[in-house]
Amino acid sequence: MADNIFAKIVRKEIPAKIVYEDERVLAFCDINAKAPVHILVVPKKDIARISEAGAADEPLLGHLLTVAAGIARQEGIDATGYRLVINKGAHAGESVARLHVHLLGGRQMNWPPG
Ligand code: AMP
Repeated sequence: MADNIFAKIVRKEIPAKIVYEDERVLAFCDINAKAPVHILVVPKKDIARISEAGAADEPLLGHLLTVAAGIARQEGIDATGYRLVINKGAHAGESVARLHVHLLGGRQMNWPPG
């Protein structure tokens, strides 16, 4: 069983500001927000990163994205827009080994990302 910080949040062993939960995912505010809205959507299934997801996980991966879009509507940033990000590995700056989708919005985003 994974013992990283997000595994502990999913198991409710440590607190987080939860904004959405269902049987497959948990979404909570990033502790070091990089935008006015910065929410992490995490599968309850223990998948370390996107490269370790398999074909059987495709419905779950789709659910992560549609949940993120729903939270964006809930947070009032659908009209202005938002960015969904998955960091994988060192070059992307992955820092927690539990798959998560970042939902970022509430300000103008730059492109390309840094
Ligand atoms: P990544 O760099 O893609 O692995 O993203 C990890 C994210 O988790 C970072 O944006 C951190 O600010 C965030 N984070 C780390 N610890 C916590 C925590 N206890 N609660 C909420 N977010 C966290």
